[in-house]
Amino acid sequence: MPEGDTVARLARTLGAQLNGKVLHATEFRVPAHATADLSDWVISDVVARGKHLLIRTVAPDGVRHLSLHSHLRMDGSWLLFPRAGAARATRRRQFPGADVRVVLTTAESYAVARAVTEVRLIPTADEGRMLNHLGPDPLGDDWDAAIAVDRMKAASTELLSTALLDQRIMTGVGNVFRCEVLFLAGVNPWRLVADVPHIADIVDCAARLLQENVSRRWRVTTEDDRRGRELWVYGRARQPCRRCGNAVRSGTVGSGAPDAHDAPRLIYWCATCQQ
Ligand SMILES: [Zn+2]
Repeated sequence: MPEGDTVARLARTLGAQLNGKVLHATEFRVPAHATADLSDWVISDVVARGKHLLIRTVAPDGVRHLSLHSHLRMDGSWLLFPRAGAARATRRRQFPGADVRVVLTTAESYAVARAVTEVRLIPTADEGRMLNHLGPDPLGDDWDAAIAVDRMKAASTELLSTALLDQRIMTGVGNVFRCEVLFLAGVNPWRLVADVPHIADIVDCAARLLQENVSRRWRVTTEDDRRGRELWVYGRARQPCRRCGNAVRSGTVGSGAPDAHDAPRLIYWCATCQQ
């Protein structure tokens, strides 16, 4: 499931392969941009902002700048395929599939977006305006924990578990980190923000987990990266809590729309360690 760390890692991987490359062909399989063609434009940068991915491009005239925005939601992905051998010299490779949204072709590779949402081409100068609803990003240069803490406290009547997923408060936390942060903080998922005194510690914990996991190949919150030991509670229903030995519980929290931060999602917690 893509969370801030996944998208930041993806931006690095895509950037390493695509930055400075000339686009040989582009396909946008979304109605708004079906006729758009960025052939001969150059990819200048790939950046992540929370769960949003921005691929910045520059026109051959060097004057126009467009950013390709996409959101990974629950199942979205960007995949790179090498453009090797005969395929490079002759015809373009086809990428069938109802969930393919974008195909970017360079001399060396194809970058294919599957099941992403909110595919938009926008002037790069408008990125800030489009994403200004997002809270501070622990993986961004402008991370400001104090703003996130203030916004979290302002959501005093929300469940802390719901507020952690609200990207307007801070960006990047998804369901896995939400469950792990609540465990590490010893907070029951059904407690209100107003009833939790150590909000600053919780924001710091969430930021630290995101930051630590950008460079890892899989998520680790326990500081033990052996397979099967890397998480405290997420995905461990009915297994013994790593701290107290009692069974980890699972249940659904949230009642909002499927795309909302308070969408119903399965969460995991230890009723003994999270009072
Ligand atoms: Zn426990």
